[in-house]
Amino acid sequence: MAVTEFSGDPRAVQGCRRLSILGATGSIGTSTADLVRRNPEAFDVAVLTANRNAADLATLARELRPELAIVADPEAYTELQELLAGTGIEVAAGPQALVEAAREPVDMTIAGIVGAAGLDSALAAIQQGTVVALANKECLVCAGDLVLEACHAAGTTLLPLDSEHNAIFQVFETENAADVEKLVLTASGGPFRTWTRPQMATATPDQAVAHPNWDMGRKISVDSATMMNKGLELIEAAYLFPVASENIDVLVHPQSVVHSMVAYTDGSMLAQLGPPDMRVPIAHALAWPARMKTPVERLDLAAIGTLDFEAPDDERFPAIALARAALDSGNGSTAVLNAANEVAVQSFLDNLIGFLDITKFVEKTLELVQASPIRTLDDFRALDTETRVVTESLVKSGS
Ligand code: NAD
Ligand code: MG
Repeated sequence: MAVTEFSGDPRAVQGCRRLSILGATGSIGTSTADLVRRNPEAFDVAVLTANRNAADLATLARELRPELAIVADPEAYTELQELLAGTGIEVAAGPQALVEAAREPVDMTIAGIVGAAGLDSALAAIQQGTVVALANKECLVCAGDLVLEACHAAGTTLLPLDSEHNAIFQVFETENAADVEKLVLTASGGPFRTWTRPQMATATPDQAVAHPNWDMGRKISVDSATMMNKGLELIEAAYLFPVASENIDVLVHPQSVVHSMVAYTDGSMLAQLGPPDMRVPIAHALAWPARMKTPVERLDLAAIGTLDFEAPDDERFPAIALARAALDSGNGSTAVLNAANEVAVQSFLDNLIGFLDITKFVEKTLELVQASPIRTLDDFRALDTETRVVTESLVKSGS
């Protein structure tokens, strides 16, 4: 498995940084915009993109003054154009316009689109050869080898924005990689951490997206509730760090204060702590390799008093084991896992299936689809399309 080298040229991110924010209207995008807004002299926004929320995108664009504002959905074009008339901001729409905008030369791209829908634009950003701060973990789950190959080919530095991977990045001693015994990914356990399976069977979308610690988009919130998020993160970690999958552990930590840990052969365990606020890892990436000020609430450990840890319960939350098995069986299986999960989560959010059906249908899809290895983008697209059809038919038949 290829391994990302965090060895990009730091000169590329010194001075005023030119940024593209892909997925600017989402949770990651708006947290990034908040930091940019507070540091106007440090950042110059070149590109902002959204799926179809023209109103929010226009508001952000009027404030952050990018050169380009893009909506992926062509139906949102006219509205965006009207909202930005007279601003001098160029407006475009459609998936191809999104990819072209992602190619705009910048110092750093924030890849904050959700799901495999963000893969093409993330690859386009990578091909520029600067720095890509990746929140969109699904890119690595569905096509990690292609993403890393593109990084190597272009000399691009990939910085992890996901809080756990950013935490590991902060305490991972690259020069002592051979002495890393384990990565420990912490997990909040989500809103159903203490629920029984029969209780979870009745869970509604509103209950599933009500995360106890983090304020996130709906898809990742459901992934946190099934704990598939930790499964996706296990795969993400295996791509980002030179550590074998059996040496990547998951540990439930309900307070979300310790964001992850690295254990070394001398018995040391290094952790990164912080409040559960994505502006911390985003700021770490935005300022990397330096640091920047953020307005986040500081940790008051005396007030917190106790930090709890427990082993994950694989019986109530089978998604992590499913993801681990997919990781061990190859990149076709992780692509199938991702596509099936995206379809199942959306079907749950649309009230078409129950909460427990999400992981059940992912598991069934993995049994039904022949997960051939992914060597090219076409391999990925064919497998992704086939998988979605299979999961959609499971959703329709209800079993
Ligand atoms: P979100 O739903 O809040 O925002 C998603 C963004 O992507 C929006 O701007 C939306 O317009 C855009 N988008 C959605 N579908 C699109 C499409 N088909 N084409 C183009 N643009 C599209 O999601 P989020 O919570 O910000 O998560 C974004 C990514 O970051 C996900 O991969 C998630 O797993 C990861 N992540 C999020 C958090 C968090 O705290 N929110 C933490 C860690 C990792
Ligand atoms: Mg995370």
